[in-house]
Amino acid sequence: SVLRAEHIWLDGKLVKWDEGGVHVMTHALHYGLGVFEGIRAYKTHDGRLAVFRLREHIRRLLDSAHIIMLNIPYTEDELVEATLDLLRKQKHLFANGAYLRPVAFMGDGAMGLGAVNPTRVAVTAWEWGSYLGDKGIREGIRAKVSSFTRMHVNVNMVRGKITGQYVNSIMAKREAVLAGYDEAILLDTSGFVAEASGENLFMVNKKGVIKTPPLSSPVLDGITRDTVLRLLRDTGRTVDEVTFTRDALYICNEIFFTGTAAEITPVREVDNRQVGEGKPGPISTFVQESYFKIVRGQDDRYADWLTYV
Ligand code: PMP
Repeated sequence: SVLRAEHIWLDGKLVKWDEGGVHVMTHALHYGLGVFEGIRAYKTHDGRLAVFRLREHIRRLLDSAHIIMLNIPYTEDELVEATLDLLRKQKHLFANGAYLRPVAFMGDGAMGLGAVNPTRVAVTAWEWGSYLGDKGIREGIRAKVSSFTRMHVNVNMVRGKITGQYVNSIMAKREAVLAGYDEAILLDTSGFVAEASGENLFMVNKKGVIKTPPLSSPVLDGITRDTVLRLLRDTGRTVDEVTFTRDALYICNEIFFTGTAAEITPVREVDNRQVGEGKPGPISTFVQESYFKIVRGQDDRYADWLTYV
């Protein structure tokens, strides 16, 4: 899938893909002051196209901007419509689904850290398969605890999805991939498990207790994390939002990552220790199957999470 479509939504209107350039003096390019989202639209079981939890993603984009005091001159409704317009215009390209990337950033004008320039806002869409590979989704991936630490909650604004903060994620991801693993797991500044470079993390211990780090840890308030919490609790399972150590991962039965891009990706190995039986366990499989049903419109309980294009 080539990273290219026909149109983008830029600063209030649909323009041709090739008209999506910005100037090298763009403030955010130098200093990282921007916010973004990753959203997926799925082909539903009846052949339509539906965006998953669109409004929650747009709300998080606006919250991220509020956190860093980046003015976005559009309302939630306008950005929801912009996203849908972009898909409607290119429906012929995205019959099998799309990945959507709203981004807002400080544009050009003045330089220096004290500058306040007009904000640029764009929404792009492209085709993007499984982030950690189809094989990863089916069989699980190999992860490595990173030598890079998730930044302290008073360094990174963890409730925001802020562009500059992703240097930390990229360093961790590259280190893991260059060392022959698929993904990095980052610890917090106290040494407790936080999240992967672009996914939240769940584990199931030997007693069958499902755990995920709490939102007071330096983890993104993931929308997939929230979806998984909802579906597990709605089916009578308890999930503890608690901190745990890296060695708890070494001796647990199951680990899986959650994220819009990575969806539900099981982890079969951490730091060269096999996790459980070295293949996706029953909870991971249940969550993955349930998630794919929900996003494809096959579970009526969560029908209001889908916005049909
Ligand atoms: N953590 C980080 C650091 C991320 O970048 C992402 C992807 N947005 C996630 C977790 C998962 O969030 P979501 O489920 O909302 O995509």
